[in-house]
Amino acid sequence: MHTAAHVIVGVAYSNFGVLITGGNITLEKGHLDFSFEKMDRELFEQIVADADKLAKEGHPVKIYYMKREDVLKTPGLVKLAEKLPPKIDVLRIVEIENIDIQADGGPHVANTKEIGTIKFLKAKNVGKGRKRIYYTVE
Ligand SMILES: [Zn+2]
Repeated sequence: MHTAAHVIVGVAYSNFGVLITGGNITLEKGHLDFSFEKMDRELFEQIVADADKLAKEGHPVKIYYMKREDVLKTPGLVKLAEKLPPKIDVLRIVEIENIDIQADGGPHVANTKEIGTIKFLKAKNVGKGRKRIYYTVE
């Protein structure tokens, strides 16, 4: 579920430049909020379908550590709309090769082919700059 979230975020960011404005993951499903202006269910469905296709290509997931100053210098590394907490000097980086790179503390699979199938569930408008995508993995 967590690695799937990163693949979806990677697709949304590289194709549309949107940032993450919220999110949550349970065992059954996850949701991600993006800084899209408008609701577009078909587009959101397409993002999840693209994420699934990419994941099935089998991209390795690499985990390493990086200094905060270097993190801030790397374009695309910080995708949260809110900035990083100021007191952390060394950050854990999760890089899904050719898909996504983020400062992140979450649990991940070693390769995206382990995710299974990423499925779109629904979309919801939860406010200005917060368009929510619900997904699951099977
Ligand atoms: Zn994460």
